[in-house]
Amino acid sequence: MDVIESRSIFSPATGFIRRGGFDWTCNPYVGCTFGCTYCYAAFLPQNRRPVEEWGRWLTAKTNAVELARRKAKKVAGAAVYMSSVTDPYQPAERSLFLTRGILEALLPHQPRLVIQTRGPLVVRDIDLLREFRHVRVNLSVPTDSEDVRRAFEPKAPPLERRWVVAEELKAAGVPVGLCVTPTLPLADPDAFAARLAAFAPAVLVCQDFHAAGGGFGADTGGAARVLLARTEWSPERYRAFADVLRTRYPTFEGEAGFFPPAEMTRPA
Ligand code: SF4
Repeated sequence: MDVIESRSIFSPATGFIRRGGFDWTCNPYVGCTFGCTYCYAAFLPQNRRPVEEWGRWLTAKTNAVELARRKAKKVAGAAVYMSSVTDPYQPAERSLFLTRGILEALLPHQPRLVIQTRGPLVVRDIDLLREFRHVRVNLSVPTDSEDVRRAFEPKAPPLERRWVVAEELKAAGVPVGLCVTPTLPLADPDAFAARLAAFAPAVLVCQDFHAAGGGFGADTGGAARVLLARTEWSPERYRAFADVLRTRYPTFEGEAGFFPPAEMTRPA
């Protein structure tokens, strides 16, 4: 793992994050050791390494917490997306505490915060998250098949672990969004739709694979394209799943599902 002294920790939101209504992004790391094969972040200019190396490197912003303490005031009450080019709860965070330190710095200034992650470590910070008045943890659960997950996200946490995390957050009163983005091949779309709806997430969003040219998510990289071609998944099967899901629960598609928490949705 590399380390850098970063010049900033809160950056003006751009692209689909800006369009969704966020003001700032916050990335404690550059790169991501979960290394999902379809990750759009691998194509972004912030990641100055060959796409083929995505998932094999990580750079920690060693001064992230110090910067956040100095600059948190400027994001007071604003909409902050954490994180746009990394996962804030990847394994290194267990010992580095950068994400946790940033949350501690943000807390007095109460931004409207979305945490985007698939890392079970997020439950470590429940004590802080439940103190934000406007917060949502968006968990990625892109399939119901562990075989598919292992193929497309071999270094990411197992799916059932994520469901446990979702339940723990919800039980603690932290609003949870479920992101089926991109929707990977599914083993049993109807049962998966029923499970997603039964959880009653604060926000539910699905998204088909598409070539976004480096734009919003699921910009299917070469490795993911090869994997996808080996399956029987298709845009038609995605459409059928999305339509079933919408009959069961209010569901956003694509970037329409990425917006800041506007009001307290936490149970009293
Ligand atoms: S966890 Fe998120 S940032 Fe990391 S590789 Fe997967 S999609 Fe990309």
